[in-house]
Amino acid sequence: MTDDDHHHRALRREVRALVAGWIAAGRFRPRCDAWLRGYDAEFSQALAERGWIGLTWPVGVGGGGRSNAARLVLTEELLRAGAPVAGHWMGDRQIGPAILRYGTPELQRRYLPRIAAGEVTFCLGMSESEAGSDLSAVRTAATAVAGGWRITGRKIWTSHAHRSTHAYVLARTDRAAEQHAGLSEFIVDMTADGVQVRPILDLRGDHHFNEVVLDDVFVPDDHVLGQLGNGWKQVTEQLAFERGGMERVLSTYPLLAAAVAAAGDQADLGSTGRALALLATLRRLAKHVAGQLDAGEAPVLAAAILKDVGTRFEQDVNELAREVLAVEPDPVGEPVDDAAQLLADGILAAPGFTIRGGVTAVLRSIIARSARPGQLADLPARVDAAGAAGAADADVRAVADDVLRGRGGEPQTVDAGIWPTLLELGWAGVGRPEDLGGAGGELADLVTLVQACGRHVVSVPLLESAAAGLIAAQHGHTVKAVPATVVVPRAGETLRIADDGIVTGFVGRVPWGRAAATIIVVATRADGRPLIVEVDGAADGLERTPGTNLAGEPRDGLRFAGVTARRIGDIGAPEDVRAVPALLRSAMTLGSLENVLEHTAAHVAVREQFGRPLARFQDVGSALAQMVEQVTLARVAVLAATEAGLGRPDRAMIAAVVTARAATDVARSAHQLHGAMGVTREHPLHLATRRLWSWRDEWGSEREWAVAIAAQARSLAADPLWDWLTGESE
Ligand SMILES: Cc1cc2nc3c(=O)[nH]c(=O)nc-3n(C[C@H](O)[C@H](O)[C@H](O)COP(=O)(O)OP(=O)(O)OC[C@H]3O[C@@H](n4cnc5c(N)ncnc54)[C@H](O)[C@@H]3O)c2cc1C
Repeated sequence: MTDDDHHHRALRREVRALVAGWIAAGRFRPRCDAWLRGYDAEFSQALAERGWIGLTWPVGVGGGGRSNAARLVLTEELLRAGAPVAGHWMGDRQIGPAILRYGTPELQRRYLPRIAAGEVTFCLGMSESEAGSDLSAVRTAATAVAGGWRITGRKIWTSHAHRSTHAYVLARTDRAAEQHAGLSEFIVDMTADGVQVRPILDLRGDHHFNEVVLDDVFVPDDHVLGQLGNGWKQVTEQLAFERGGMERVLSTYPLLAAAVAAAGDQADLGSTGRALALLATLRRLAKHVAGQLDAGEAPVLAAAILKDVGTRFEQDVNELAREVLAVEPDPVGEPVDDAAQLLADGILAAPGFTIRGGVTAVLRSIIARSARPGQLADLPARVDAAGAAGAADADVRAVADDVLRGRGGEPQTVDAGIWPTLLELGWAGVGRPEDLGGAGGELADLVTLVQACGRHVVSVPLLESAAAGLIAAQHGHTVKAVPATVVVPRAGETLRIADDGIVTGFVGRVPWGRAAATIIVVATRADGRPLIVEVDGAADGLERTPGTNLAGEPRDGLRFAGVTARRIGDIGAPEDVRAVPALLRSAMTLGSLENVLEHTAAHVAVREQFGRPLARFQDVGSALAQMVEQVTLARVAVLAATEAGLGRPDRAMIAAVVTARAATDVARSAHQLHGAMGVTREHPLHLATRRLWSWRDEWGSEREWAVAIAAQARSLAADPLWDWLTGESE
């Protein structure tokens, strides 16, 4: 564990203690959307006293000198508790960082310590009635006068303007310039002459919105933020701060927590498990954004993906809660029913989630522009020992691409095609030590190789052989020969093993069962306990019935009619064994998802209808953006499971659920965008999509893993649940 991890744990404990104390004292009740609606100056003050406003800013300007990764810990603990943080949120999240990046030293000295102390609070004066999604259309005008500027205009939807000491205002300083060029940023004192604030009630009847009328308001020269005319560039850079945090994911978390606790039957557990798998993945993406911010970058793409997927997730939590909690929303009921009230809050707040901070359509147009080769660089990648993100992946990936390029297609037999070459290269042994029959390297290297097989639509028993080797190696054992495969009986199937080591029973749809020289089998003893054994592929009494999956890959029935097996070791649960091929399957699925995305992006760029390329239609761009999102989530989930390693089957389950969902959605959109030619065997799209449809339910169905995730989550109390989801602080 690093020093940072220790510090984060300590910080997490302190935040939890503060929040628990305030809840216990009845000083706030957890509610949905509290980061916008929960305004409590005393709570903000309590955070300020602990140095928790401006946590990432330099100590010299009143900040905490900590990382964005630390701020992620702080903010997620406040958000999931539904704490009243609205008072300081805008200043802390984006205006402080903007002043830090663009403000003069004088402006920094003047404002940052006071924001950090909770004395100065900011509202955001960006939107106008005629400038919403197209923010560059702002008309509020600033005119140069002696010593400063006079600002006139109307801002709208300005949350908490009536309580803030200052406003950030985007205004036009050059009316002759091109729309995006003539904008500048100002810091406006809300007590200045000419500032008028008019309340607007929102759907729930809350007053946070306002209209702010600026009538010839004087702003001194030194309150221009950054360069004159550079406002557009500056404001778009702020967007990584505005969009990339967990407030775009956790607005309804208190409601989700109630649903998790109440989830009862299999249907509830399935939906809940899917939601939790997505949440864990979004959290990992937020960690990536925090890391990029710490590296001084502006991860605009990753932040846009987080915001678009995260805010839809927040809305979906309401529907999940309706399904699971079976309560009616009740905003004011007595006696107070927490779940009914949280649901009422969640429903009335939800329409705003996908509007504030950039509407869905705008986010997707940013994301769709990235769907070109080489554009996805700011998305999460493995960090190597030297701290370089993506370098190790890139090396292994380049080698794999060289070997596999042009070798994909319909599945071949193991005697022909690429398999003998891969055997010679030792790929099946990557990720395990040489003294256990391996070829060295890390699990991550193996994941990259398997992923490459998916990307090049190469069907060979690599995944199965590698998984068999890894499972055996976990017990200090070396598999005898490859190709190998793994057999874990599904529900309704049993392989029994007698005391003398004889295995009997039938298992269907075994990947590459026909070719396996070694079979790693989970069998059940007479006392019901599971055991791993090794069976020789040429053993007497082993009968094979050929079969295939939708992609034509071998999936064969294996009958064990009294087959002699060699004991490898005891296991806790068959799922722990199944999680190993499931993780590799997720990686392979990710590869095929990349293949489908690349094909589709290339197709819509050249295919013309109505006189222009399909990509120029907004609907097409939106569909492509959602494919990028799904591929990104799959990438993050596989990365998280690989980082966690084989000792964490729960991470593999999450990856399995996320990649299965991506397989469904991406294949559907890809076929839609390819039109009729995509539903033929002549076009290569089917090579990847038929695999995706097969793989998403192999090694455990999406539903099965989702139920397992929810069952595990339900057994945990509030804090351990969060620790488990994030994989931190355990
Ligand atoms: C809860 C909440 C809090 C807010 N707080 C603040 C604040 O503090 N300060 C502030 O300045 N603003 C704030 N806003 C305003 C927010 O930034 C704007 O609402 C947002 O930018 C969208 O602008 P609009 O409402 O004018 O919608 P419009 O831009 O009119 O969009 C309406 C709909 O039209 C469609 N649409 C728009 N553009 C496109 C396009 N290019 N392609 C396809 N479809 C499109 C989309 O379906 C979109 O949802 C807040 C909004 C909400 C809901």
